Amino acid sequence: MSSSAVSDSRPLLSVRDLRTHFDVGGHAVKAVDGVSFDVYEGKTLGIVGESGCGKTVLSRSIMGITTASNASTSGSVNYAGTELVGKSKRALRAFWGEEMAMVFQDPMTSLNPVVRIGRQLTEHLRAHKKLSKSEANELAVQLLTWVRIPEPKERLSNFPHQMSGGMRQRVCIAIALACSPKLLFADEPTTALDVTVQHQILNLLAQQQQERQMGMVLVTHDLGVVATRTDDIAVMYAGKIVEKASTSALFSRMRHPYTQSLFWSIPKTSEPKHTRLSAIVGRPPNLAALPSGCSFADRCPYVQPICREVEPKLQTIDSHSFACHLPVGSTEAEAALSANISAGLPQSEGAAARREAQQGSLT
Ligand code: SF4
Repeated sequence: MSSSAVSDSRPLLSVRDLRTHFDVGGHAVKAVDGVSFDVYEGKTLGIVGESGCGKTVLSRSIMGITTASNASTSGSVNYAGTELVGKSKRALRAFWGEEMAMVFQDPMTSLNPVVRIGRQLTEHLRAHKKLSKSEANELAVQLLTWVRIPEPKERLSNFPHQMSGGMRQRVCIAIALACSPKLLFADEPTTALDVTVQHQILNLLAQQQQERQMGMVLVTHDLGVVATRTDDIAVMYAGKIVEKASTSALFSRMRHPYTQSLFWSIPKTSEPKHTRLSAIVGRPPNLAALPSGCSFADRCPYVQPICREVEPKLQTIDSHSFACHLPVGSTEAEAALSANISAGLPQSEGAAARREAQQGSLT
């Protein structure tokens, strides 16, 4: 994995100022609101945020599979030199399978419960490749072997319900990889699985990605998942990217309070056993009625009056982008946090407990 967010080569996918808004009763729900990023061949971009932050709508908008009739998408999605925004569903279909593919969170929604695994795989293969029935069968067995399904030949006659959750997700990965896509979207691919199986699936995706030199977008709510499995990370909040950097830069110096809050809420083996995890106070804002100023203000431990008045713009310093008036680590942020802790601001409680624990461990 590279440690740089910047590559000399041209991006495989270039997203610029992408917006997907839903018209709900005359109000625009801004699920994706001005998002820009690049994905390079053989590299993985992690998109991280809580549920409802817009990350799933984002990947569906890029793939052109937003089905809602009240959705409108604008901006640019350039895939290997071709503009995708504005193309018809039919034209976009030509990109699915051999160019781009997607693995969804719940395999049961991607697999047909009443059709045997073998038929689902071979039908997909024959729809995209000119293969005879026996060639498609042979390739299906090979694909199941690649995703490490034991006794692959026998498994072809299984229905989805005869397999475990992990096994079903492997089948979905096999279907997604069947036509050797150049770009893979994996949307919360392990959320429904237990921890051991999660690791296996993520390892499998990483291995297949390296072998095939695919570009990959790994969408997740879990910052811990992307820490060791991505080259770059984009953190999303309320439909916007609020921080974006190479994975190494982000973890060595996170600048946005939301990223820091996500980080504080994951268990870490490096911390003493009884270190308290801090859940993020409150809920993500209603996308149909966003507050003025910074949309994280109600939950931010550093919040100051300016945050509620002026929306922070995404600024970039040394290839590290963040949208915050008081970036973490700045003198102003430290002063703001101290003032909020002294004032007993509820959203600063977690930060106060962390400070106390740190001071305790130093004495
Ligand atoms: Fe927090 Fe203000 Fe930065 Fe928003 S702009 S994240 S409220 S410090």
